Amino acid sequence: MIFPDAMLGMLGGGQLGRMFTLAAHSMGYRVTVLDPDPLSPAGAIADVHLKAAYQDVEALQQLADSCAAVTTEFENVPAESLRWLANHCTVRPGGDAVAVAQDRIREKAFFRAAGLGVAPYAVIESDDDLVHAPKTLFPGILKRARFGYDGKGQARVADVEEARKAFKAMGAESCVLEQRIELQCEISAVVARGADGLGRSFPVAENRHRDGILDVSIVPARVPGDLAKLAEEWALRVAARLEYCGVLAVEFFVTRDGQLLANEMAPRPHNSGHYTIDACATSQFEQQVRTLCGLPLGDTRLLSPVVMVNLLGEAWQHGQPQWERVFLAPEAKLHLYGKHEARAGRKMGHFTMLGAGADAALQKALIARSALYPDWND
Ligand code: ATP
Ligand code: MG
Repeated sequence: MIFPDAMLGMLGGGQLGRMFTLAAHSMGYRVTVLDPDPLSPAGAIADVHLKAAYQDVEALQQLADSCAAVTTEFENVPAESLRWLANHCTVRPGGDAVAVAQDRIREKAFFRAAGLGVAPYAVIESDDDLVHAPKTLFPGILKRARFGYDGKGQARVADVEEARKAFKAMGAESCVLEQRIELQCEISAVVARGADGLGRSFPVAENRHRDGILDVSIVPARVPGDLAKLAEEWALRVAARLEYCGVLAVEFFVTRDGQLLANEMAPRPHNSGHYTIDACATSQFEQQVRTLCGLPLGDTRLLSPVVMVNLLGEAWQHGQPQWERVFLAPEAKLHLYGKHEARAGRKMGHFTMLGAGADAALQKALIARSALYPDWND
């Protein structure tokens, strides 16, 4: 086990790295962040900030020399860098597991092989693949296999013609064409698995998106108990089959007829798990510290129903948001990530709202949310 005040390494300096750093600091660890951005949210509070590219061998060497173990906060960190580091120090999760999550084609095949349900899809590598794709996949969504996030690199397509145009517009890179599913709701399971192979899930969150970006997470998810259990089981199964060490999130669709389908995974803590900071015995970021350091997993029990609301750049459209409207509720907790520029769609922070039940928390959260987004009328 790695104990405080060891130095831990983090590849990536975004908000996830920042919340990891906060959790690590409160446990007495030190953190070195590698991120080229001099203003990165995690770099700003880390003990050491290496401002270099993720492939910079000198920086990787420094990370390996100075850190007891290294992890990552975003899935597009070059798997090669993780593999290089693994030859020099402890790296969790490993580059091979991260590589599966980086590629939708590998990810979907992996889900299927593990016995998880997935939306009907076809791998698209050429125009020809589109022409031969089953017509039942339309209306569909064409998704780039790599480097998509927050709904980017995706196009809704009604038929083959639209799909061909979209494929061309995306640079004819490898894609998957997925049938558009009629959703009852979306849920996610964040799990952690230790080096000893023991896994534990956080309570499943119910997620609402707006323009392809997570907007609100509601916990506990308002789905049948056996469905939530199945989602946890599937996520833990994926972690086990990847021989994963760390925190892993799996996103699911719940179809109109109540079926569970695995959508995608993230080899790191997840936006839909931010509620754990204020509402669980252990947060997903503390769990990340624990798995990285080989400590036993913390208790994941939910202490209170909770709703998390994302704060995007739009909330700054008319200057400083009206924070007093959030703080009106004593159960509200504000988390800002220290980003200097508020752009539309950029995740600037979040707040959580505790409540007696999920519906009560949601009602209060939506009131505060409407004050922060005066231009949104939904
Ligand atoms: P993330 O920010 O989660 O990484 P992403 O850009 O990688 O997002 P997805 O999670 O695949 O992309 O899709 C974003 C959202 O688009 C989903 O949460 C869902 O609301 C909607 N969506 C994606 N695929 C489908 C589908 N096959 N049928 C219906 N809706 C879908
Ligand atoms: Mg997603």
